[in-house]
Amino acid sequence: MVDSYRHKGMRRKLAESIRGKGIKDERVLGAIEKIPRHFFLDTTFTEIAYQDKPFPIGLGQTISQPYTVAFQTELLEVKKDEKVLEIGTGSGYQACVLVEMGAKVFSVERHRPLFQKAKFLLEKMGYFPKLFYGDGYKGLPSFAPFDKILVTAGAPEIPEALLQQLKEGGFLVIPVGAGANQVMLRVKKTAEGVFEKEEFGQFRFVPLIGKKA
Ligand code: SAM
Repeated sequence: MVDSYRHKGMRRKLAESIRGKGIKDERVLGAIEKIPRHFFLDTTFTEIAYQDKPFPIGLGQTISQPYTVAFQTELLEVKKDEKVLEIGTGSGYQACVLVEMGAKVFSVERHRPLFQKAKFLLEKMGYFPKLFYGDGYKGLPSFAPFDKILVTAGAPEIPEALLQQLKEGGFLVIPVGAGANQVMLRVKKTAEGVFEKEEFGQFRFVPLIGKKA
């Protein structure tokens, strides 16, 4: 795994282009500038890893577009030492962004080979979020409650278990929609059983899969 000056230069440009698209949180931009995205991709993608695009990571899944990663992370308003649950570890890139922001990260992936690959890579890179193989629809009840929950796959509806596992004052950021496109929602738990929903435009994610493989 080589991280050259050229890669660093491409990352700086990527962070600048994302800033140009409206992302303001410097901690998010700093994480994007710091994390070698090409490590998360097959070597055939090394030259294009810093384009602001999603790329395949196997099993029909993708590493999200960096702008989308930044957008969702900014919506989470992560503070240092907060407990953050991610549903859909995928390559592990988003989990590293959250770790860079000082969060205590828990992440669930439903495809075992992706879970294993991310675990191996992140340890090698020196990132230690707690990674789990399982069905993210159920959340992680034994580690709940969480300050923030981030879903990185398109959900047909908001999973009830995730709402239950939010702390009071916590947020869930989730793309929701039954078709190819979803609406990005931020759901705040203002009191036990009371939620406020905000909408943040259309996105396109691979679907959240219901039953365990
Ligand atoms: N966050 C990832 C990253 O940084 O590379 C990208 C996520 S990718 C767009 C969506 C991921 O969600 C895929 O890896 C997919 O296998 C996973 N997924 C789909 N349904 C799931 C479920 N029910 N529970 C956990 N993970 C799920």
